[in-house]
Amino acid sequence: MEQAYDVIIIGAGPAGCAAARTLCSAGLSVGLFDKAIFPRDKTCGDALIPDAFHALSKLGLTQRIAGISYAVDGMRLISSDGSDVLVRAHGACIQRLKLDELLLNGAIETGAMFSPGHDFIRVLDENGKYYRIEFNTGLGVVTTRASWVLLATGAHPAPIERAGLLLSAECRSFAVRQYVRNERLAKDFNELVFVFDTTVKGGYGWIFPGPDAVFNIGIGFFGSAHKHNNPRRNYENFIAKLPLLQELMCDGEIVSPLKGAPLRTGLSGTRFAKGGLLGIGECIGATFPLTGEGIGKAMETGILAADAIIAKCQLGRAAVAQAYTRSVDALQPKFEVYRKAEFLFKWPYLTNKLVRHTRNNETTRGKVEGLFNETADPAFLLTLPGWAKILFR
Ligand SMILES: Cc1cc2nc3c(=O)[nH]c(=O)nc-3n(C[C@H](O)[C@H](O)[C@H](O)COP(=O)(O)OP(=O)(O)OC[C@H]3O[C@@H](n4cnc5c(N)ncnc54)[C@H](O)[C@@H]3O)c2cc1C
Repeated sequence: MEQAYDVIIIGAGPAGCAAARTLCSAGLSVGLFDKAIFPRDKTCGDALIPDAFHALSKLGLTQRIAGISYAVDGMRLISSDGSDVLVRAHGACIQRLKLDELLLNGAIETGAMFSPGHDFIRVLDENGKYYRIEFNTGLGVVTTRASWVLLATGAHPAPIERAGLLLSAECRSFAVRQYVRNERLAKDFNELVFVFDTTVKGGYGWIFPGPDAVFNIGIGFFGSAHKHNNPRRNYENFIAKLPLLQELMCDGEIVSPLKGAPLRTGLSGTRFAKGGLLGIGECIGATFPLTGEGIGKAMETGILAADAIIAKCQLGRAAVAQAYTRSVDALQPKFEVYRKAEFLFKWPYLTNKLVRHTRNNETTRGKVEGLFNETADPAFLLTLPGWAKILFR
């Protein structure tokens, strides 16, 4: 007998789980499917920035996250000439293995029926009335049906193509990360460190402190920069160059191998909606260009899609698709500025200037803080008057 739901969600990462919890809380039946067996790891920097806390607050999960994450209250920017600046920034780090397990439990406790080990094969539209979705379980093909389908499968193009939402297979960014434990340095280390260095031209490196004295260290390339780089070699050069990293590695313990993954950024490359089939999270490119942060926007787009279904389902597929597309379109301006601002990574001279200017100028420091907290218009990164101040003052 074929199982039927109001909504089927494919992918149980932050986007899928946020949507599931929102839909179930409104009384809809939800089937949540993932090809992985949980708890599962996800290659990530593990940093939660304010938009993630905003989404977690909507989901009623802030307190639970606070209990198991590592809080940070600053963001240090280091440039290739050795200048650095510390700005106020409230965030947290939590290993994705734990974050995603918590989010999944948050979906299940509201009533989502979770099926792990289900690899999405295809979705068929049955006369505009409902969708039939097929999964490979290893033991055979399982078929389910639903009125609405949310695709939340992350950056990889294959499932997006199979769902008929793919416009471009290209992922514009790529990043690698490794976990290193260092009990000594972890004491009082409560800032996210971003490093602009010539060893990571076209991107940046990071050092993020996490729970249990484990640091998440990585580098990411944006735009097309990853095509001209060898991330493993760049990572080794990055580690070898920065004194803080040498210290961290010297008496630290490597607790995971270096792992890499693509990032689908810039709200591009995927259709947001096709009838009653909506894409959410990184599969629609909801990860920021320039920074690579995407956990918050994955949850946010999951909630937006759920809200569109809850509010408009009686009006039919077109009304839901239109409401959702509108709400995602409203996020576009910030993504556009971030995408354009990626030029910064090509010019170490500019990032040196930006870091020094941020240190010396209170107004710019306020803007950089506002950028992190999503309270300031990021457009100052692109205007000529903005750069004139940075370069010539
Ligand atoms: C190295 C690196 C560092 C990053 N650092 C940060 C950071 O510090 N902060 C931040 O906010 N963001 C960061 N990001 C981005 C962040 O990881 C993503 O934005 C976020 O994971 C997107 O969430 P999602 O739910 O859309 O997709 P995912 O988290 O990728 O979840 C997708 C889910 O779909 C499942 N799935 C995939 N294919 C199928 C299929 N065929 N059938 C069924 N299920 C399937 C997967 O198993 C997975 O569980 C980083 C990314 C990388 C690569």
